[in-house]
Amino acid sequence: MKKISCALLAVMFAAMLAGCTQPQHTHSLVEVPRIEAEVGKDGNIAYWECPDCGKLFADAQGEREISRKDTVIPALEEPDSPFVLADVYSWTGRNYPASEFTFIYNGTEEVKFTYDETALTLDAEAHTVKALKDGRFPVTVSAGSSTDSFTVIGKTVNRVGYRWEGNIAWYKERAETSADLYDSDGTDGKTTVFVGDSFFDGPSFWTNFNDIYAGKDAQIAGIGSTTTYDWEQIMLDRVFLHNMDPKNLVMNIGTNNFGDDGDSTETVIESAQRMFSLMHDKMPETHIWYFSVAQRTWGSYNQIVTDLNDAMQAWCEHKDWITFIDVEDLITAKYLRADGLHPTLDAYVEVYAAELEKAGCIIEDK
Ligand SMILES: [Zn+2]
Repeated sequence: MKKISCALLAVMFAAMLAGCTQPQHTHSLVEVPRIEAEVGKDGNIAYWECPDCGKLFADAQGEREISRKDTVIPALEEPDSPFVLADVYSWTGRNYPASEFTFIYNGTEEVKFTYDETALTLDAEAHTVKALKDGRFPVTVSAGSSTDSFTVIGKTVNRVGYRWEGNIAWYKERAETSADLYDSDGTDGKTTVFVGDSFFDGPSFWTNFNDIYAGKDAQIAGIGSTTTYDWEQIMLDRVFLHNMDPKNLVMNIGTNNFGDDGDSTETVIESAQRMFSLMHDKMPETHIWYFSVAQRTWGSYNQIVTDLNDAMQAWCEHKDWITFIDVEDLITAKYLRADGLHPTLDAYVEVYAAELEKAGCIIEDK
């Protein structure tokens, strides 16, 4: 009897000890509903959480404990778009044509464009868009179950200030001389005209032009110090590159936009695209060959040159009327004059003329 009492006490004592180390706790389970994962955002399975002890369970009875990471449904991958699209600038007003936007779709479903019709007009066949006002306007492109979008950046152009008006009288005078030469010696659909800045300025820099293109139907009409703004003015004021339709226009432009006019990267990219859009509108049958901007050996323009060239290469890629010719890595210091900016006569032969030919530009005989 005495022994039994001891055994009983021992059992009771053990029970009390157990009660102290593992206090009785009834989970108060709260259900967390399932949330589906989205693109770029995790979801979760349905689970039950006890707010008192923080434990998570897969079931309402609290029988199967799980960890936090067991509840996660991983975010969905961005679905592969069947479209190739790119944001596009569009300039308001009658001076500027609608902008061709990049659009590639290899599927068979009918394609639908959705956009704010008070802000844009869009030609779904020609793949052109025209902004009616300033701002950033999304265009949603859908076909079957696929949807993607691009942004139209609407800009108004005010052709005033030093970018547009500085030195323009002198540039126009020189452009008039080139217009006269084209009128007398040029042939639409046959002649190749080189235009742009000092790189393609015959008297000042490209002095071996007539040796390289002897017997060829080629004219050199670049003007030192010019920017995209100057060439826009020359076209819009109908001085040159107006009422003519050469076979090829070969162009070097852009370096003075940031070097002289202080353009930001974004501004020079927009300006180059606007000038070429205008050029193509004026001379739709002409093929344009655009040389990348060369790096200088001095100054802080290295990055802006690379960014401009990359942006223009991408912009030209899906257009059949303009070819980007990348000479950025070819014009090394040995091909630059002592000024660290302009090409040597060898550079014209071995890089500019050679790469133009390699790109597929055929310059006709006279
Ligand atoms: Zn609990």
